[in-house]
Amino acid sequence: MTHVDFAVVGGGIIGCTIARELALRAPHASVLVLEQDAVGSGASRRSAGLHFPRGATERVRRMAGYSQAYYRALLDADPALPIHPVPLLVVSDRAAVDQVEAAYLDEAGLSRVDALPDWLPPLSDETAAWTGEGCQYADVGALTRALARSLRPRTSFREGVFVASLDRVASGYELGFSTGERVTAGSVVLAPGPWLAAPAWRERLAPLGARVKKVVALHIEVPPAAEDGVVVFHDEDAFLLPLHEQRRWLFSYTSQVWDVDPDRLTGSVCAADLADAREVLFARAPRLAGSARSGRVFCDAYSANREPLVRALDEEGRLVFAGAANGSGYRLAPAIAAEAAHLLRRAVENVSDQGGQQ
Ligand SMILES: Cc1cc2nc3c(=O)[nH]c(=O)nc-3n(C[C@H](O)[C@H](O)[C@H](O)COP(=O)(O)OP(=O)(O)OC[C@H]3O[C@@H](n4cnc5c(N)ncnc54)[C@H](O)[C@@H]3O)c2cc1C
Repeated sequence: MTHVDFAVVGGGIIGCTIARELALRAPHASVLVLEQDAVGSGASRRSAGLHFPRGATERVRRMAGYSQAYYRALLDADPALPIHPVPLLVVSDRAAVDQVEAAYLDEAGLSRVDALPDWLPPLSDETAAWTGEGCQYADVGALTRALARSLRPRTSFREGVFVASLDRVASGYELGFSTGERVTAGSVVLAPGPWLAAPAWRERLAPLGARVKKVVALHIEVPPAAEDGVVVFHDEDAFLLPLHEQRRWLFSYTSQVWDVDPDRLTGSVCAADLADAREVLFARAPRLAGSARSGRVFCDAYSANREPLVRALDEEGRLVFAGAANGSGYRLAPAIAAEAAHLLRRAVENVSDQGGQQ
């Protein structure tokens, strides 16, 4: 039976950044990524892929700052990666001014403005706006595939392979696949995105209290101007993102449809999604609302306290869960990966001491 030092279950942006982190910290380790479909095809494929430099808590702000620097370094090293810096405009009710200014990182350099672009309703006594920096958006599926490409062949990938079982054994964990193959791993990271209820780990994850929520983003078939940046509507937790390379806008808003099953979502926008999104658009960007007719629908895992979950699931710290990033799994993935690798530091040190098991 094959034995690997680390098995990472889930080939999304979080699983692939974790595999990269393990490969960097333990260059001699054998790392195997398991993916039931194709790498970058889960929530990552449908992601709006916006990074903004903010967080509702100190930990998330720290994670956002870490991830921002990580993505900047990736792009500096390979300017062909599908990561696109974009200017930032934040709009909020005046009552939320302190909240906005506390949520954004210092490096966002928020600066109050007294006028909005002429395609948005003008500011009133009730509203406030800021410009800032540090935003970027990515084609997350393509970026995930690029990360996987950079890891091969040192890191192994099994795509189209469903992980059907996970059992504790003396050498770590034994994983059983849809192909009939069985592999043992010294340590396992579960990064299954919204597939929290898969039979192999449903019971282990239940105590974490994470839930799965629908996430919807509409496409607005109007080309943005070259100078347009992302407009964040703070109070609605919504944003308008100019997808310059696609010559259209994307509008992301907060759906409140909970406990969906990722295997049952069709990816199609329904009338209720359109109506909910247009309500926000008519209030905040009425000129674009009529052109919002299609989009992308999927789901994501959400934690109870709205901070990503990175947890050891056993006493020895050989089984780790990483995810439930609350619709921010792209922008926080590098920091999640660093936390997961930190939890596995004993295994990383052991492999490094032994020069790796081949
Ligand atoms: C419409 C939409 C817009 C979004 N916009 C943003 C945004 O602007 N900014 C942001 O930061 N985030 C955004 N998100 C959230 C972000 O995309 C997710 O948080 C992130 O992609 C999660 O990454 P992941 O690797 O955990 O999950 P996934 O990409 O879903 O990867 C998990 C992988 O695990 C695999 N898997 C599951 N079960 C098994 C099994 N039993 N065996 C083998 N493989 C398995 C799945 O096939 C999947 O590929 C958005 C999400 C959606 C849906």
